[in-house]
Amino acid sequence: MGSVVLSVDAELAWGFHDLTDPPGRRIRNARWGWHQLLDVLEDYDVPATWAVVGHLLLESCDGRHADHPAAADGWFERDPGGSLERDDRWYGLDLVAAVRNARMEHEIGCHSFSHVVFDPETDRDVVHAELERCVSIAERHDLSLESFVFPRNVVGHRDALAEYEFDCYRGVEPPRWYDDSRFRRLGKVASFVAGRTPPPLVVPEIDEYGLVNVPASLSLFSFEGAARSVVEPFAGDPVVRQAKLGIDAAASSDGICHFWLHPNDITSKRDVRRLRRIFAYIDARRRETELRVETMADVARRVSADEPTRPAEMADDETAAVHRSPSSPAGRH
Ligand SMILES: [Zn+2]
Ligand SMILES: [Zn+2]
Repeated sequence: MGSVVLSVDAELAWGFHDLTDPPGRRIRNARWGWHQLLDVLEDYDVPATWAVVGHLLLESCDGRHADHPAAADGWFERDPGGSLERDDRWYGLDLVAAVRNARMEHEIGCHSFSHVVFDPETDRDVVHAELERCVSIAERHDLSLESFVFPRNVVGHRDALAEYEFDCYRGVEPPRWYDDSRFRRLGKVASFVAGRTPPPLVVPEIDEYGLVNVPASLSLFSFEGAARSVVEPFAGDPVVRQAKLGIDAAASSDGICHFWLHPNDITSKRDVRRLRRIFAYIDARRRETELRVETMADVARRVSADEPTRPAEMADDETAAVHRSPSSPAGRH
């Protein structure tokens, strides 16, 4: 029995503040896209993991963040300071509240504090400052962060995630056949428009730090721009086609089809229509089959419960041993 997971990189202006030329239209549309996404999820009863940039949970800031180790390098140069009322591109408590007040039970996860990329060159101090801030701000808002989505999908410093008691993260999409090809672009078009191969279903794994890796399968905005406009009128929306193949594959297997997107990817009614068609299909398949929709935290809990306890742990912890008796299969309910 497979499942669909949807994770959302929720960041407003923070997703672009280090770029020389931030995409103004996407930033301006980010709040609208956030609400559109939330509405469509509500319409089709699809819960999601909203990985939120921690700064969005602040009421206000001074724009300098002098006690953050990245501040000295000018990392917060574009942060205007102030509050939600003054500049709503950098704050999002109202948006997070909308997610928490929704009828669907969504998960609030973490997308770092200020969109620092966790690559090997990033100082450990900076990584710790990012996580420490997220965890303490979340606590103030009565949130417990379980899932992490790495900025720009650069997976690194996983030891720190474990230290700050995260349970899982979104790993990178497995490569597709055309990725290594000289004809990558052509291969992608062929695959999205006419191919019968679904996006990769993923299997969550527990890493060496005890974190559950829930890799991505498909970005819901992975076929955009001119190519989409050329293809769509005669072949239909290529991402809807891919997504349906993935949903069908998950419905007839034990794997996970893990979709992801940014609210700021949604910039037009056409984009909303795409989501509507995909989520309606998830909802329909869920009624006809055993397909489930899970959050990343649901997956982590299920996988951790299925993991057999190591003998050393059992000897150390009698309580755990009692709860893991073979007569009570964990994680099946
Ligand atoms: Zn700030
Ligand atoms: Zn991001």
